[in-house]
Amino acid sequence: MTRRQSLSLCLASLAAGHGNIPAVLAADEPRKSAGTKPDPDGGVFELRGYYITFMRMPAMGWPEWRTALDALAEDGINLLVMWLPGGFRSKKHPLTWQYNEDHPNVRQDFMRDLITYVQGKGIRVLLGFTPFGYDGVNRMALEHPEWRAQKEDGSPVDEFGIHSWGWSLCPARAEVREFMRSYLREMVFDFYPQADGLMVESSDYNVCLCPECRAKPYEEEFRLTREISQEVWKAKPEALILVYPHYFTGRSVPGLAASAPAVRQPFDPRWGLVFTPHSAHFDADLIRQASHTLYSGPEAVLGTPAGVAAGARAARDHGVKGYLPSLEAFSYQVTRPEGGEPYFIGRRRLPLGQDPEKEGRNPWNSLPCRVQRLAVRAFSRQPDLSMGQFSQQVEKAFFAETSPASLPQAVADLLELQRIWTFEAEWYWSSPLLDPDFFKSRARRLAWPADKLAAYQRNLDTLRQIAVRWQASPGGTERGMFQLADSVVQRWSHAGEPAQVR
Ligand SMILES: [Zn+2]
Repeated sequence: MTRRQSLSLCLASLAAGHGNIPAVLAADEPRKSAGTKPDPDGGVFELRGYYITFMRMPAMGWPEWRTALDALAEDGINLLVMWLPGGFRSKKHPLTWQYNEDHPNVRQDFMRDLITYVQGKGIRVLLGFTPFGYDGVNRMALEHPEWRAQKEDGSPVDEFGIHSWGWSLCPARAEVREFMRSYLREMVFDFYPQADGLMVESSDYNVCLCPECRAKPYEEEFRLTREISQEVWKAKPEALILVYPHYFTGRSVPGLAASAPAVRQPFDPRWGLVFTPHSAHFDADLIRQASHTLYSGPEAVLGTPAGVAAGARAARDHGVKGYLPSLEAFSYQVTRPEGGEPYFIGRRRLPLGQDPEKEGRNPWNSLPCRVQRLAVRAFSRQPDLSMGQFSQQVEKAFFAETSPASLPQAVADLLELQRIWTFEAEWYWSSPLLDPDFFKSRARRLAWPADKLAAYQRNLDTLRQIAVRWQASPGGTERGMFQLADSVVQRWSHAGEPAQVR
């Protein structure tokens, strides 16, 4: 959320390495191992998994989830964070899910079956949430406008959201604290007691700056986190509870008002810590104390295999023991100009660039995503794998039937297709190149310069070459590459004219 939210921050930090050739070259140079021993089963990370915003995926029901989980389990993961608020039918607080009534889990609860199914594969499931903000929770201010968080000048924070639009809440209010505890306990103990723990994702956006909250940032959030952690550990001593390092660092939090004082609460080493590139930077002292540590970044969704390699190496180099990239994909109906783009209002989001109605409801089996999942699997085990060695794994995984003469071109085309698919992708959309109408409106609105348009033109030309190269392939990955590349080229073609982005 932080990743979901701090989009601009996150994208700015990604921009330098996102899908361009120098980043690939840089990542290709193996680094010296930081002293971690490879483990024959799982590699250097004891925790390996994905972070998923379940409540923003109303296009998938239980049958689709079951096949998706079968596939994700093949990536060698042992941990799955499922974000739930807004995505289950709370009896006590129906306002939290009414915006999400078409979500299959809101219509008929299958999350319990899902958790049991995933656990049967040796994977732990943690329930994700943000205290006092984000999906479901932010809807409560519709009925209680006085619960809204405040800006420093005392006015309410701006309405904000991803799918679930509303307002962050002010934790200084007793009724807000009471609601938050009641909703969480309902989710954790009444609905999904079989889950293996929690991920408490600190609020990082529109955090309340009323005089009480400003004087003691994160105090109420920390109190809530400590209480719910103790209740969960009492019921299940082995539960894994992941928190952000903000409460303990004694430093100001990236993204929070500069005027907010730093916080240093006592750290309970039973907590696992999550570090992220946007708002929770590595902290050597805390990493030494915590029983579990994880790094979670956007690279599997927004980047390339080189980005995944860089994420895994960053985690390993800082002594972090887990790698949990986001695999977020959204399939909800858009109601607001999210990401500043009114274009999508009234449309369904296309998770990872795939139309759930036409191309399948499980976005993680699309060809570009399968390349990234292979990267997660490969670099989670061996962060120092070179890009050449990764290409050999691509050969084995995708081109077992391909003739040796065609192999180098086939592998290069697949990696190019994946790069182009996520070129300038954001959480809300894959590369704008995939949708000519969106591309044109965005290019116009942001007055894209000629060199940016030229980069997109090169990508479109590459897709055309890929389509031509593999159009006669009867099946396999080659056929899949043709279909994906050709679908984009066709969208840009008009009456037989060659496709041009201008
Ligand atoms: Zn407040």
